[in-house]
Amino acid sequence: MSRPEGADLYPLALRLAGRRVLVVGGGAVATRRMPALLATGARVELVSPELTPSLRALADVGRLHWLARRFTPADLDDCWLVQVAIDDPVAAAEVSAAAEERRVFCVRADDRTAATAWTPAVVRHGPVTVAVLGGGDPYRSVAVRDAIRDRLADGGIPVPPAGRTLRDGSAGPAGTGGRVALVGAGPGDPELITVRGRRLLAEADVVVADRLVPGLLLDELRPDVELVDAAKIPYGPARAQEEINRILVERARSGALVVRLKGGDPYVFGRGGEEVLACAEAGVPVLVVPGVTSAIAVPAAAGVPVTHRQVAHEFTVVSGHVPPGDPESLVDWAGLARLRGTLVVLMGLKNLAAITAALVAHGRPAGTPAAVVQEGTTGAERTVRASLDTIAERARTATIRAPAILVVGEVVTALSRQ
Ligand code: SAH
Repeated sequence: MSRPEGADLYPLALRLAGRRVLVVGGGAVATRRMPALLATGARVELVSPELTPSLRALADVGRLHWLARRFTPADLDDCWLVQVAIDDPVAAAEVSAAAEERRVFCVRADDRTAATAWTPAVVRHGPVTVAVLGGGDPYRSVAVRDAIRDRLADGGIPVPPAGRTLRDGSAGPAGTGGRVALVGAGPGDPELITVRGRRLLAEADVVVADRLVPGLLLDELRPDVELVDAAKIPYGPARAQEEINRILVERARSGALVVRLKGGDPYVFGRGGEEVLACAEAGVPVLVVPGVTSAIAVPAAAGVPVTHRQVAHEFTVVSGHVPPGDPESLVDWAGLARLRGTLVVLMGLKNLAAITAALVAHGRPAGTPAAVVQEGTTGAERTVRASLDTIAERARTATIRAPAILVVGEVVTALSRQ
């Protein structure tokens, strides 16, 4: 019995930075392959009479060098690798033959049996790269790669902490390698976390989670992960924050990868800055992973774009947790009332009547469209719409609960009015 196809391949990873790589063809295949090739830092020459618009854009900014003509064997001089990305078998065979003669490895999109090198299906997961060769069947390699990618992302395949060194190569405090990652969990739908955020969550030893964090993300944690529920920390808000900072620093100092998981984006009313400062003061390395903020995503989920051509060219996000007129308030409600653009108010549900009244009193037209969205992007999402002067009462009678967002402006009806 013969060996399966590809069993005689020698897998290898190439360092192509600064080295000349030739791509023959300027169509769909070349377009798909180009980003990974450019990411290596290779000096890419592309020979083809025609280019797709995205390849053309790369040529225009000098990311690749375009030879606007057909291939000639001399194009392979000084090349380390050639990628054939053309359909014409005769022309492709000509490239193969010239490459063979010059001992340049040749990847063939059209005919793997004629190729002297194969490109695997790849998934990158932080420092880990998995390359899958599917025995000559690209669908098989992609299917296996996808399954591995999903298991890496959900922690099903644990990735050991890599000698506990940091992205920049330095070790953590006192060489423990501990660190803190402030991760934005997104607005509620567990699929709206970033890829990096999900990876760090899968690698975490300790997770300190906020109340607004999607529960399903926590469901995926390995059983040995210590989960600290920041919402359950007693004391008042100021003491609780100190306590959270203390936990982050202490766990990181003991060598843990601590993920501080926060709703939306960590720097949008999330006190993320304070936690970064606390870590920095303690000499604990800290990394911030942005998140999809509810300020934009929740209106969007309810069909409201925060900007819209010819309707709103600005949007302003404010906190409504201190009512207008309160001496503690840092928000200029009178100034906001004069804006024509979109106003998004977070944490404003309990002060909704006071907020909308202040906006009207300071000149925003009472008939301005407004919406309140509860638990946007989740299964419990509810939206009420009314005008600025009636929205507070509508939200009250509809028993809208927190978390909720108020959005004010013509954008509220921009997609519903035709
Ligand atoms: N850092 C978060 C915001 C924290 S402040 C972010 O970037 O999204 C908390 C406020 O965000 C809530 O009071 C509410 O106004 C809003 N919020 C967060 N998630 C929400 C959701 N799914 N639906 C409606 N409002 C939400």
